[in-house]
Amino acid sequence: MTVTPLVRQHVAALTADELPAYVYDLPLLREHAATVRAALPHPVELYYAAKANPEPAVLAALRGAVDGYEVSSGGESAHVRAAVPGAALAFGGPGKTPAEIADAVGLGVHRWHVESEQELHRLAGALADTPGAVVDVLLRVNLPVGAGPLDSVALAMGGRPTPFGLDPERADACAALLAGPLGRQLRLHGVHAHLASGLRAPAQLQLAEQVVDWSVRFARRHRFPLAEVNVGGGMAVDYADPAARFDWTAFGTGLEKLLDRHPGLTLRIEPGRALTAYCGWYATEVLDVKQSHGEDFAVVRGGTHHLRTPATRGHDQPFDVLPVAGWDHPWPRPAATTGRATLAGQLCTPKDVLAHRAPVDGLRSGDRVLFAMAGAYAWNISHHEFLMHPRPGFHFLDGPAAGPDAVAPLAAGDGPAGG
Ligand SMILES: *Cc1c(COP(=O)(O)O)cnc(C)c1O
Repeated sequence: MTVTPLVRQHVAALTADELPAYVYDLPLLREHAATVRAALPHPVELYYAAKANPEPAVLAALRGAVDGYEVSSGGESAHVRAAVPGAALAFGGPGKTPAEIADAVGLGVHRWHVESEQELHRLAGALADTPGAVVDVLLRVNLPVGAGPLDSVALAMGGRPTPFGLDPERADACAALLAGPLGRQLRLHGVHAHLASGLRAPAQLQLAEQVVDWSVRFARRHRFPLAEVNVGGGMAVDYADPAARFDWTAFGTGLEKLLDRHPGLTLRIEPGRALTAYCGWYATEVLDVKQSHGEDFAVVRGGTHHLRTPATRGHDQPFDVLPVAGWDHPWPRPAATTGRATLAGQLCTPKDVLAHRAPVDGLRSGDRVLFAMAGAYAWNISHHEFLMHPRPGFHFLDGPAAGPDAVAPLAAGDGPAGG
């Protein structure tokens, strides 16, 4: 069982019509984020990539552990500014519109991850009306990385031709621009590189070393003081092993050694998934169980229009079953018979599968299923409108983590802000 007592008790008390529901364990999130923070040496700044899960309650729960938030759109910058007022924001992402840039400047975003020369000009244009204002710029560079770290990753944003960041040669052109009049309001602060998602600690460290080495040479060549290197996010989350965690201790130790060689440098990381994946569950119930050509299928309320993660990543979402004893219908209770079942949703497409041929022990109609690791890239990346089923409920559980009466819903509603 990966389900926490807080979440299990809460889901057991919901009515069938209150399902499906996203249920978050906020004390668990705070505890995990504090563990991550504690594993990192102090010149390492921890930012949270808001796109992984921008629920206000999630952003607020992380506040004590993170140094700031990475936002990737005008929508995210306004939303995060409102959800965690006063928190530091770094604005990244390709394709920033002039209006987004102007709005974010107005919100006081002072750290920019710039992806092209044109973006430098646009940013300078947005600042022209406020002559005294100065912002810090990190050049996001798509570095040529040596063989090894990126061999086995789920998603690669760099190390090969992609729309992300600057080609190293164009980074030289940007540095030259920033050494000129543009540099009056745009201060070249360092380098940003988010090259891949799904890296374990040894590969992340190897990559961080390559990024820092490249950045040091880049700064020497252009004679600017290298204040900061942001080595991105992408820390691995293993959906096949819900108990596994990225090795933050090894990562922190490795970063400390790297910093020993570069005194005065600030390193920043900006994980998303590895911070919030574990704190959320998508809870639902089995509507029907049937046999098809020798296999068992359990159809649950909801589906991949609420939790698209397994369909986009091609994995099976881990889950626990909460058996429900009562069956007050006159007809026989449908049940799985083969020891394995495919858990499908309500959509009329064969892609609507949350878990394939998963081992189940007599799964029955009416049993509850809690899909784990649904705290990142889950609701907010899903295609909610397809087939017009009702939205899930949202429950952000808080309160003391211990004790049998620990269930204290902080907020419950039928839709998240900004969702
Ligand atoms: C998405 C993203 C992240 C976070 O990635 P995770 O895999 O969720 O850790 C960090 N930085 C940038 C620039 C991103 O686009």
